[in-house]
Amino acid sequence: MGSDRSLQPINIFHNVMNQNRSLLVIYTGGTIGMVQDSESGSLLPFNFENLYQYIPILKNFNYTIDFYVFDTLIDSSNVSPAFWIQLAEVIESRYESYDGFVVLHGTDTMSFSAAMLSFMLENLNKPIVFTGSQLPLGVIRTDGRDNFINAIEIAASYEDDMPMVPEVCVYFDNKLFRGNRTTKFNSENFKAFLSVNYPLLAEVGVKIKYNSPYIQKPNFKKLTVYKNIDCNVALLKLYPGISEHLVHAVLQTMELKALVLETFGSGNAPTDSWFIEAIEQAINKGIIVYVVTQCNGGSVEIGKYETSRDLGRIGVISGYDITTEAAITKMMFLLGNVESKESIYQLLQTSMRGEMTI
Ligand code: ASP
Repeated sequence: MGSDRSLQPINIFHNVMNQNRSLLVIYTGGTIGMVQDSESGSLLPFNFENLYQYIPILKNFNYTIDFYVFDTLIDSSNVSPAFWIQLAEVIESRYESYDGFVVLHGTDTMSFSAAMLSFMLENLNKPIVFTGSQLPLGVIRTDGRDNFINAIEIAASYEDDMPMVPEVCVYFDNKLFRGNRTTKFNSENFKAFLSVNYPLLAEVGVKIKYNSPYIQKPNFKKLTVYKNIDCNVALLKLYPGISEHLVHAVLQTMELKALVLETFGSGNAPTDSWFIEAIEQAINKGIIVYVVTQCNGGSVEIGKYETSRDLGRIGVISGYDITTEAAITKMMFLLGNVESKESIYQLLQTSMRGEMTI
């Protein structure tokens, strides 16, 4: 896997099966697209044109499936704003030609990418299903085969000509999640993703059971793609014993515009005066402080405990039950695309793409 981020276009290839539904599978890298080299034993990206050798059953689908392979396949640790923009552009330029999209992506930062794409693509009326795997497709016990096949089936699922899931989702281990609600919580189990604060969008067993009340409805408006991303955001995770020097160093980061503060429990932080003053000074300098919780589930409730009252008084913004992944990407998105600070404040407390429960 190269780490070259100059993601150039691409080769696209076409496999006509039937004109029923058409899907675009976008392969960006990650474990799923790997095979074991028979001589060295190490993992290498495989040639996607040989995909049917690994998943011959794909040929039985009644869909037209095209593949778009990123020129430089990346381990998802190398995901960057340039990558997100390229992915959004691939989808934008082919949006009208396909009924759904499957994005094959490394699992490590899949939750960040799914959240970022959900913000970049406004008025999305088609399914975009991210998936990947813990074991490469070329390994006998791979989870990639099932993840891939089910993601395709979900992306192609329509009822009365309406997509079943017109949103950015993550499919993994028989479960379909809203993408911007997910967190990767396990580095080796097939069950690798969680969405504690939002119900599953679908569960796959003998049938695919869609949880329709929790799935966005199409709004039939024209897709708008936002491509400005401002990365002047810091993430500070609190822990007992955090030093004053460290907090000051983070807040003095050059060009810093926003801080995502990962607090304890329901938005709690040390009440030491040096800490509160440091955060207050940052807010007075114009830095936006967005409070999220370190817990996988539950919500920030500023003022519930004495240990969060001071934060409320100095003007932090509550992220309610948003995940850290969604908070960071939402902040980068808003700083890049919204000029007025009041609007950013307001949108941070609004569920723009179903990423938070107010
Ligand atoms: N390091 C890999 C990646 O995120 C792991 C995976 O694909 O699961 O690209």
